[in-house]
Amino acid sequence: MTIDTCLAKDLITVEQAREALLQAIAPLQETQLLPLEQCCGRILAERATAQVDLPPCDNSAMDGYALCGQAAHYALVGRSLAGHPFAGRLGNGECVRITTGAALPPGADRVVMQEHSDLHGDTLTPRQDTPAGQHIRRRGEDVRCGDSLVAPGRPVTVPDIALLAAAGVRELVVMRPVRAALLSVGDELRPLDTPPADLSHGEIYDSNRIALATALRELGIETVDIGCLPDNPGSIREGLEKARDSADIVITSGGVSVGEADYTRAVLEDLGQLDLWRLAIKPGKPFAFGRLPKAGRETLFFGLPGNPVSALVTLYQLVIPALEKLRGIVDGERTPPFQGRARLLNPIRKAPGRTDYQRGYTYRDTDGLQVVESSGLQGSHILSGFSRANCFIVLARESGDRDTGDWVTIEPFRAPLG
Ligand code: AMP
Ligand code: MG
Repeated sequence: MTIDTCLAKDLITVEQAREALLQAIAPLQETQLLPLEQCCGRILAERATAQVDLPPCDNSAMDGYALCGQAAHYALVGRSLAGHPFAGRLGNGECVRITTGAALPPGADRVVMQEHSDLHGDTLTPRQDTPAGQHIRRRGEDVRCGDSLVAPGRPVTVPDIALLAAAGVRELVVMRPVRAALLSVGDELRPLDTPPADLSHGEIYDSNRIALATALRELGIETVDIGCLPDNPGSIREGLEKARDSADIVITSGGVSVGEADYTRAVLEDLGQLDLWRLAIKPGKPFAFGRLPKAGRETLFFGLPGNPVSALVTLYQLVIPALEKLRGIVDGERTPPFQGRARLLNPIRKAPGRTDYQRGYTYRDTDGLQVVESSGLQGSHILSGFSRANCFIVLARESGDRDTGDWVTIEPFRAPLG
């Protein structure tokens, strides 16, 4: 086994880094009132209360007949359709035709399904026993008027929207969105609208900025594009100041490593402070975190490595958990991504020293066994394998090579990666 080339003992573990980020971050306080249709994915800031009972009245769970009392035969006296309740009251031995969701007439105490009864003229004969209360949905059994519906501090989901709409809630108080300023650093980077023929030798497209912006927008975060800066301390300083003043957080990629042209950290330390740098994570070791003070508040700084796989892995594993707290998601709701076990279909190289987030493809084989295969080359510049992958293969810091047939931990991608 080869020991990882970096001095592993100097590196901060992923867990320590996540904890430190959460400690350093205070949730945003500002809220806004939004119409319900704009609230999905937003963090609820205040309780919403039901305006009506759900169901609003006792009603039928089936298409059939609403009956009064226990009898062998019932006299059909009318009908109650959804939206058109029966006007009268049922006496013993009487019934009405009823549709699903239609109001139960006063006096009715049970429902028999259409399929379980015979109608001859105006006489209904149930073919089965019909106990009292059968197929009746009770008023308020789901929600009572005045009930508090969704707990604040978590993203509003589609089922929440359904519940709130059903309960007559038309608008919600939600947290204002986080604003993130994005910038790339590197002399070799060119914007995406550069024709391929115009790229000089060694120049590459700036793919990180668009990938990061897309991921963040997927999470409902507003992005401010500061652009692509050259490896030059003056430009980086200007860019960081602009980013600091226009957003709650700044996310940079590139220029945080130890190369000759890596100035981002030095500029950050000049304008603010560096809290964290160099993690025991692969890919993503040069990840940096710090703060840029400004009037009233500070802007958080996340410096992602330039390598495109490293940038997205550190976004997913570190920045997004931190952003969840900043967005206003409360402790119990900030759940880590689901992890499971899968059997390896190929051997994996792994040097002890850092936690690896290798890219894999997991599926259930024909025997129903969860298996995973490496999605190809694992270099931090290999985007094709990342694009083919649907999970991380998470390999503990001290573990070494793994063999075909070994059980490994997988972490299926969820938004914004998959
Ligand atoms: P750095 O972190 O600046 O040392 O960059 C590491 C690697 O990532 C180099 O190969 C860079 O060319 C590449 N890189 C840096 N920034 C970007 C970017 N915005 N998009 C794509 N690749 C990048
Ligand atoms: Mg660079």
